[in-house]
Amino acid sequence: MPKPALPPCHYEGMETLPEFRNEPYTDFSIPANRAAMEQALEQVRGQFGHDYQLRIGSDWIATGDRLISVNPSNTRQVVGTHHKATPDLAKRSIECAYAYSSKWCRTPAAERVRMLLDAARILRRRKMEFDAWLIYESGKTWPEAEADVSEAIDFCEFYAREMLRLAGPQKVVQLPGEDDQLMYLPLGVGVVIPPWNFPLAIMAGMTVAALVTGNTVVLKPSSETPTIAAKFAEVLLEAGFPEESFTVLTGSGSAVGDVLVEHPKTRFIAFTGSRDVGLRINELASKTQPGQIWIKRVVAEMGGKDAIVVDAESDLDKAVEGVLVSAFGYQGQKCSACSRAIVDAQVYEPFLEKLTSKAKSLRVGPADDPANYMGPVISAGARKTILEYIEVGKQEGRLLTGGTDADGEGYFVPPAIVADVDAKARIFQEEIFGPVLAVTKARDFEHALELANDSQYGLTGAVYSNNPEHLRQATEQFHVGNLYLNRKCTGAMVGAHPFGGFNMSGTDSKAGGPDYLMLFLQAKSIARKVG
Ligand code: NAP
Repeated sequence: MPKPALPPCHYEGMETLPEFRNEPYTDFSIPANRAAMEQALEQVRGQFGHDYQLRIGSDWIATGDRLISVNPSNTRQVVGTHHKATPDLAKRSIECAYAYSSKWCRTPAAERVRMLLDAARILRRRKMEFDAWLIYESGKTWPEAEADVSEAIDFCEFYAREMLRLAGPQKVVQLPGEDDQLMYLPLGVGVVIPPWNFPLAIMAGMTVAALVTGNTVVLKPSSETPTIAAKFAEVLLEAGFPEESFTVLTGSGSAVGDVLVEHPKTRFIAFTGSRDVGLRINELASKTQPGQIWIKRVVAEMGGKDAIVVDAESDLDKAVEGVLVSAFGYQGQKCSACSRAIVDAQVYEPFLEKLTSKAKSLRVGPADDPANYMGPVISAGARKTILEYIEVGKQEGRLLTGGTDADGEGYFVPPAIVADVDAKARIFQEEIFGPVLAVTKARDFEHALELANDSQYGLTGAVYSNNPEHLRQATEQFHVGNLYLNRKCTGAMVGAHPFGGFNMSGTDSKAGGPDYLMLFLQAKSIARKVG
């Protein structure tokens, strides 16, 4: 059924915006697009090794203590070097953001929206260049990088429209003899802490949501992907966001994170990352500091242990394909990645056979070579942890493929499938964040749902079934923030699939949805006596 058209957005002083549409992906099977991408890769390689200083307001700062970002596909290549912030600089960045916040919050929403739409236009213009930075710094393959950059553009376009809606008149009941209004105001200084796995989309999404709502921002990017953050800062400045409205504070989270979170002038923290860091931030933020006059707000999106349930009554080939791409796309390094396949006993053996054969045929190698389906994992540390989990998996189940070394100068880990895994097993319960899939046999559909819900997390999940009653049951009982029926559990689209998880997966902030910007705003009610 065609979707009803959304009403066009309008705000005084602004053109009417066309209805939001997701950014189309570049088709790399077209020779001209392929050639353009090769050229972008070459141009970006030409910028490798650049030294990026810190900027706070209009001051550029060289601390000399450098963070060296390498290409995980070829660790001899230095993508960029970055000056690490000290705790004192972290304090200074919050103070700079605080000093400017009273001016920024008075900048008309229409102007902030215009800047954000310009940021989207610039990203679109530089799309392949950004694809290339992601390929080299985060080890994304061409299509994965393209999806990430497209999502960043989507966030800009979507939140621009949302801000117009929220800046306009809000409907409230009008009491007799009163003029009653409700308006949304920014919160103040926000600390934005993203992960490396959507190094542009999540980082940009949280940052622009905070900025367009009128908050000033200290963005502490992941230490794995600082160059992408530095490049995004160029986009924001070109789009007209004032220097004082945001700082990209490169540096180790363990060195400057606490200072940013605890500072009394910090009003909110928007975090996406692991459970343990998210919980620590939540705990620190809840402690009132001397001079602090508000309760800090924490938006924390955290880990996952996402399951796909394969019913006896399902199209097995489609289920195998869905599990394969959800488990091994971007090397399993998505919070939404399928790390548990829960399969009805009646189709368990044929499922395993088909899945294993397909997984063995996946090509693993440097992400800049489009012939590879999987690139490297992000770091030596990640590779070590993943290989250790595969060893655990060998004890906890039957390793069907993987666990072997891969050639090359990068952090390559071939896909691993461990069958016959018990629900109490570590590899069934703990987030691994790599290409490791645990497969578990279910007695029937009820048992499969029970196993799927046996987790502290609740981010994404999928069910493959041709039985409408089973799909209904899953809709009611599968306790996840993002449920997919008869499709993969990765690839949430802005606008269509607002994203965020339950339980230890976070605060269910629903990025890319109509409720998201409210997390960066506070509402003020004004009642005026008339007559
Ligand atoms: P991480 O280790 O938790 O790091 C996330 C961010 O927190 C990084 O910028 C990191 O900085 C910073 N950080 C580290 N210690 C800190 C501290 N004490 N105080 C403040 N900040 C600190 O996670 P990651 O490895 O980057 O990302 C993978 C995780 O993110 C997985 O668990 C994945 O499931 C989750 N994730 C969740 C979602 C979602 O929407 N739910 C989306 C994507 C990823 P440094 O890099 O400098 O350490």
